[in-house]
Amino acid sequence: MLLAEYSVDGLYRYGVPTEVTSRYAISLQDAQGRLLAGTTIPTQQTVKNLLPWAHPTNEYAMPVSPVGSTLVVRGQAYRASLGVIGSGLFWLVSALSVMTAWMLIANWRHTRRRVQAQQALMSETTFRRAMENSMLTGMRAMDLQGRITYVNAAFCQMTGWAESDLVGRTAPFPYWPENDRDQLHSLLGEELSGKTTPGGIQVRVKRRDNTLFDARLYVSPLIDAVGKQTGWMTSMTDITEPNRVREQLSASHERFTTVLEALDASISVAPLGSDELLFANKLYRQWFGTQTGGHLQLVAQAGVPSSPTNDESTDSVDSFAGLPTNALPDTETESAEIFIAELNKWLEVRTRYLSWVDGRLAQMVIATDISSRRLAEEQASSQTERAQTASRLITMGEMASSVAHELNQPLTAINNYCNGMVSRIKAQQITEEDLLGALEKTAKQAQRAGQIIHRIRSFVKRSEPNRTPSEVVLMVSEAVELAEIELRRFNVRLNHYVAARLPLLMVDPILIEQVLINLLRNAAESIDMALRQTSQRIVELRVVPKVIEDKQVVEFAVQDTGNGLAPEVMARLYEAFYSTKADGMGIGLSLCRSIVESHLGRMSAENLYNGDDVSGCRFSFWIPVSEVPPSLARHQRPSNLNSGH
Ligand code: ADP
Repeated sequence: MLLAEYSVDGLYRYGVPTEVTSRYAISLQDAQGRLLAGTTIPTQQTVKNLLPWAHPTNEYAMPVSPVGSTLVVRGQAYRASLGVIGSGLFWLVSALSVMTAWMLIANWRHTRRRVQAQQALMSETTFRRAMENSMLTGMRAMDLQGRITYVNAAFCQMTGWAESDLVGRTAPFPYWPENDRDQLHSLLGEELSGKTTPGGIQVRVKRRDNTLFDARLYVSPLIDAVGKQTGWMTSMTDITEPNRVREQLSASHERFTTVLEALDASISVAPLGSDELLFANKLYRQWFGTQTGGHLQLVAQAGVPSSPTNDESTDSVDSFAGLPTNALPDTETESAEIFIAELNKWLEVRTRYLSWVDGRLAQMVIATDISSRRLAEEQASSQTERAQTASRLITMGEMASSVAHELNQPLTAINNYCNGMVSRIKAQQITEEDLLGALEKTAKQAQRAGQIIHRIRSFVKRSEPNRTPSEVVLMVSEAVELAEIELRRFNVRLNHYVAARLPLLMVDPILIEQVLINLLRNAAESIDMALRQTSQRIVELRVVPKVIEDKQVVEFAVQDTGNGLAPEVMARLYEAFYSTKADGMGIGLSLCRSIVESHLGRMSAENLYNGDDVSGCRFSFWIPVSEVPPSLARHQRPSNLNSGH
């Protein structure tokens, strides 16, 4: 038999691990539940009696096996929270834990936001820096004392100075041109005292290489985060190029306006269908003021349509605008000469369509004062008229002796008839029948003399140029009648041929007769000077229809048998006052040509040859056949002068 004795206290103290005793109340009890060692917690019942709401205690009992049921080990779990104090602690701990958790979360979220803000700030800063560096505007910051605190890359690039050369500097700055220092000092003073000009200030800036450029500076206060001004921020732009462009533009504009203003033509531009005047130069303003009235009056009086029309075909008119589809500004300039009573001026008006700077279709009117030209033209035409009349008088003066000779014949005849009649009546040898016959003959001779005088009178009579539809045959016969007086004196024969059924010519018959008489007289004089034989003293006049330059014309040609035209004479033929004759005036041919040309005809002269010898010359001119209005057409007489004599 083995007897062993255990100290219950020893068992309890050494047999139970401390971690167990810290959590559970371990006790050794005998079978009756008396405490032998360890600690107990008041039993459920006791507690229940004290605190009816407390939870039951967890406990467990078990006999110590070899000893039998006399020794029971009892474990009771300590109540973590017991009652008010226990649960209070629990809640406190819980609240603290929740708060801690909440604070952790809040802290995490705050940190996260701070990181985000920091990142945004960084990207913003880098963005601003990049922007600042890529910017073409120079930036310069100064503190309140005028010391440079910052310059950006563009500023350095513009001035050519490095950042280290500039930052920390006070006036005068290295980029100040020496000559402008005083001015720049005062500008800086104003800048620092807060006097800023809204449009900025223009200054000259010196680069490091001593070259200058124009710059515009804008100054604004530099405010720090707390709203306190710490200095001034100045931005600088290089305006050399814009300045140059502006100067060039204004110079070209000035040239343009100077030219237009100085022009002696009035120029106005107005859009179609509007009262607005887009442009008017000085002369327009002088004549018509600043309103469109003058422009519209010119357009209306010039008879130019104020809206372009195209009457060639309606196909080229587009449906919506009603304007021709071809480019209007390319259309021809139209011009007209009009008289403006208000200005007492003749104006030549030219109009043109153009597309205005804003794309609108506009009409430009250019009016030139042609009053003096008109006056000169009128004077010239009245002078020509006078010269023509004078020339006819001269011709007649020159022909005076021939005319006297011509008149002498009928007058002598009249005299003879009268004398005969007188003597026969005295001798009472005349029958009534013979007397009648003699008187009729006398009257005929008187009629002939009267006719000559009438021809001469109607030829020299001064009359306004009067173009009428005229018969060629009549004109030729009248001219021939007068010329023959002279031709007879020179003992020259005249053959003339006028083609049948010539159309009427729209001419002044007296002037055409004048040309013909001149040519016929020159021809006779030339033959006379060449001392031709009687058989060769022949002048030929031919009048025939022709087609020249696709025009229907009537050609008059006078051919003689004289010595022709020497080359030097040919060159100066139509020169006024050029004559080879001792008593010649030399204005005949020049007048002839101007008369022919005023009838839109042409005149020419050529020598005629017989082998190598000049056998005479031929003067010819033609007059175009124009449409004669039927109301003006005179009754045409049957031609009786078709063949010469
Ligand atoms: P004028 O007869 O008074 O001299 P014109 O103008 O009629 O003036 O003629 C100018 C010149 O042209 C004449 O002087 C003459 O030399 C020359 N001339 C004109 N017609 C003829 C002609 N038919 N034959 C030769 N020369 C002519």
